Amino acid sequence: MSAGPPVDIPPRLAFHPAMVHAVRKIVIVGGGTAGWLTAGVIAAKHKSRMGAGFSVTLVESPNTPIIGVGEGTWPTLRSTLARIGVSETELFRQCDVAFKQGARFTGWTTGARDDFYYHPLMLPQSFGQLNLVPHWLARDDGRSFCDAVCPQGRLCDDGLAPKTIATAEFEAVANYSYHLDAGKFAPFLQRHCCEKLGVRHVLADVRRVNLAENGDIRSLDTAQAGEFEGDLFVDCTGFRALLIGETMGVPFKDCGDVLFCDRALAMQVPYASDAAPIASQTISAARPAGWIWDIGLPTRRGVGHVYSSRHTSDEDAERELRAYIGPAAAGLTARKIPIRSGHRETFWKRNCVAVGLAAGFLEPLEASAIVLVELSAKLIAEQMPACREVMDLIAARFNATTHYRWGRIIDFLKLHYVLTRRTDSAFWRDNLLPETIPDRLKDLLLLWSHQSPWFHDEFDRVEEVFPAASYQYVLYGMGFRTQVEASALEGDAKNAERALRENAIQTERLRAGLPRHRDLIRKIVEHGMQAV
Ligand SMILES: Cc1cc2nc3c(=O)[nH]c(=O)nc-3n(C[C@H](O)[C@H](O)[C@H](O)COP(=O)(O)OP(=O)(O)OC[C@H]3O[C@@H](n4cnc5c(N)ncnc54)[C@H](O)[C@@H]3O)c2cc1C
Repeated sequence: MSAGPPVDIPPRLAFHPAMVHAVRKIVIVGGGTAGWLTAGVIAAKHKSRMGAGFSVTLVESPNTPIIGVGEGTWPTLRSTLARIGVSETELFRQCDVAFKQGARFTGWTTGARDDFYYHPLMLPQSFGQLNLVPHWLARDDGRSFCDAVCPQGRLCDDGLAPKTIATAEFEAVANYSYHLDAGKFAPFLQRHCCEKLGVRHVLADVRRVNLAENGDIRSLDTAQAGEFEGDLFVDCTGFRALLIGETMGVPFKDCGDVLFCDRALAMQVPYASDAAPIASQTISAARPAGWIWDIGLPTRRGVGHVYSSRHTSDEDAERELRAYIGPAAAGLTARKIPIRSGHRETFWKRNCVAVGLAAGFLEPLEASAIVLVELSAKLIAEQMPACREVMDLIAARFNATTHYRWGRIIDFLKLHYVLTRRTDSAFWRDNLLPETIPDRLKDLLLLWSHQSPWFHDEFDRVEEVFPAASYQYVLYGMGFRTQVEASALEGDAKNAERALRENAIQTERLRAGLPRHRDLIRKIVEHGMQAV
């Protein structure tokens, strides 16, 4: 048998070049939630290298304020904060934090007074092993999907907290995230990153970005602190997108043709008394040309109207917001924030990666911005290129994953609009125009008329932002009907019966055992939670 032609083995394999340009200096520009979360996640992941040649520097303008909104978060924030070593008790003490257990959507389906549904943060009973949708549909007993499969809607209705004072930090009885004061959160993270993680903080305005011959960013000139060189630059400059947009010239992909809202009016509303109940869910109330968010913090509510300027005027939008708030709005001023739905065409170009508003923004309907910051920061930290020579490979991966995530979030947000039966205003009617609905979403809706969302629908990525469970809650919360074949019930009927019964028992147990939301927050602030 022939041994085949001789193979030339080069003395030095081409794919093992010397590490010529090690990546050691990470420079983040921007000190909002995106900048500090990214700094914290990278510094915590590379803790043993910090100070030993590896550094994280955050440059923040003393003259451009952070956006200061963004009060709703996703449960991922618990693990992110635990990972970077934050104390949850201190978070409650310093950032005016309340628990969030989901979102209550009112008026989205018909606009009638009793029209509401929950998108809770707990998964349906036995999710993963058993799809309860066909069994719930077959029963048709008048119970909402959420109440049939999950206790959390009832916990929110009752004003209860998702844990007790005996539950350790970051652990939950019912899954939760936070409502927080965005103006306090960034400084809180800053203190932690600088004092505990060795991040260097520089207060200076970036005036010029200097490029190397190959097109990489070489350094930044600042007005107050001189020049900063770096190996990897993270653009967290918010809507300005100073590095990824202005310097690297990456275009913005507008998606206002799918998601119409382009303005927000925000107000901070005091409670009638210190003892007023705090909602532990975001309230999203549909309006003729958009929707209103209502978020309860311990000391105030954050209430805002997100609307389409094509469908209403600023004056009418403000009137709508004031009418929602009622007498408490008298004397308050509304802050107007222009928003542009869309994202960068690419997120990591050469040695520059964008995170947060610099990467893009979608209307805050499901609080998807900060979770994307967390996921991006984690991906950068975990895949931190060892050297410039491998950076473009990692950038390509990062871009593929991040594109996937933005696409899925756009689909999921649009889902809330396309299931409406409202025809009372042009805003709602226009949302149903087929050309405004992404093709993938159209295909899925067709499929879901015959089978309910499940893992086969490509919701199978690690760290999927909105899993099949989220689609189930929104679809069936809004009265979508799936024509279930009898075969979908076969084999699982007894287990499903048991799971639905178990949910009813668990709901009553939790309703009897969990404290009132405001009472628990007061206890946490006074006595603290058990550290993990
Ligand atoms: C109306 C509205 C509601 C929202 N609600 C939610 C929500 O409920 N949940 C959610 O997850 N997200 C929400 N978001 C998004 C959320 O607010 C942001 O994703 C988050 O705050 C991160 O912002 P950022 O850090 O990217 O930008 P910013 O907070 O704007 O920070 C930008 C930073 O860049 C710095 N900077 C700018 N130019 C320079 C320069 N030349 N030199 C140095 N530094 C510079 C600034 O000083 C600042 O520190 C909302 C956004 C809006 C507009």
